[in-house]
Amino acid sequence: MQKNIVIILVSILFINCKNTTTAQSPDMGVVEEVFLGETKASEVSDIINFLASDELGGRDTGSEGLEKAAQFIEEEFKSYGVAPYFETYRDPFDANGIATYNVVGYLKGNDEKLAKEFIVLGAHFDHIGKAKEVNGDVIANGANDNAAGSSAVISLAKELARLKSNKRSILFVLFEAEEVGLLGSKHLARVLKMKKLNLYTMINFEMIGVPLNDKSYKSYITGYEKSNMAEKINEYAGSELTGYLPKAKEFQLFMRSDNYPFYEQFNVPCQTISTFDFTNYEYYHHVDDEISEMNFEFMSELINNCVPVIIKMANTNDKEIKLN
Ligand SMILES: [Zn+2]
Repeated sequence: MQKNIVIILVSILFINCKNTTTAQSPDMGVVEEVFLGETKASEVSDIINFLASDELGGRDTGSEGLEKAAQFIEEEFKSYGVAPYFETYRDPFDANGIATYNVVGYLKGNDEKLAKEFIVLGAHFDHIGKAKEVNGDVIANGANDNAAGSSAVISLAKELARLKSNKRSILFVLFEAEEVGLLGSKHLARVLKMKKLNLYTMINFEMIGVPLNDKSYKSYITGYEKSNMAEKINEYAGSELTGYLPKAKEFQLFMRSDNYPFYEQFNVPCQTISTFDFTNYEYYHHVDDEISEMNFEFMSELINNCVPVIIKMANTNDKEIKLN
């Protein structure tokens, strides 16, 4: 099986080379290999082309389009060998009088002891249905918000199920009814708390469809200062995969997505990764939040960078990610 490899030289070797002609013995440098995932841009594109299509009508809570999205995700999970966590993939709840559900996939850890500890990877797959008409278009396709984040969770499920190297267990969750008040995540966090789930950490993906403008880091994380999550993610990734965006703090994004109910219930690191920086995308909750605006190359890179991160997170002996 072929793997993409990034060789990272963590040493003074490079720096010295610039300044001296003295040859360094190779063992002066520590070479670490970081394996990347194998998700192709075309695979991300296929997922988003379905979820954000006009056929799904903007995936409003409880809608027919949302049901079609759920069926698609269930089929994907099944084909990857990702199991249902509950009796089925569906976690039913009531969203303001509408009977609906989250979709929850489960990849059991392969270490008897660590398998009792869980990592939750999540993204909301609902959107707002319709929005203000522009040139005859009323469907809010929600390509960036949040077919993009959903594609990350679905792609990570595929990669991690293929690798089967996680010691801790992983839940892959597509949340419903985020747009109407984080209802799906509030429900599931409560249910898992009642089941006394041993939650290590939760990572949520929101609006990762276009790159950040002029930043050294590839994404930002909400609640940056609440834990050492960003530091550990970058250490595990071997690159500046995530960072601090001041605007995220200013707008309290930490409290505005599906990570927050998990943080409230479990009081462990639960944070959102995003690349929407308020300057790089004009179509938030707009009918032009379309598939054609998405950067699939960028998304597949981001997802592939996350694969070694999740594996290390799942496999360290101790829970290295902690609240500050
Ligand atoms: Zn969203």
